Amino acid sequence: MAYVITNLCKDEKAAICLDVCPVDCIDLTDTQYVINPSLCIDCGACELVCPVEAIFHEEDLPAEHESAILIATNYYGS
Ligand code: SF4
Repeated sequence: MAYVITNLCKDEKAAICLDVCPVDCIDLTDTQYVINPSLCIDCGACELVCPVEAIFHEEDLPAEHESAILIATNYYGS
């Protein structure tokens, strides 16, 4: 389980999550930021600072944002 960033990030990309992530597991794709699910330690710090509430724990991900999991797994190849 890990936190995931939905496409709500796409038009914002504030990048505040990068500053608070203790394990440096957030990267920028062509369109939005993504979280490496292999490295995320589930601390929740990024979720709290996102100005557009784009970040969810995988278990709490709204159904309409399920593609966010695929975006991350495709990017990191796992
Ligand atoms: Fe980083 Fe914590 Fe967010 Fe995971 S939950 S991406 S470890 S800040």
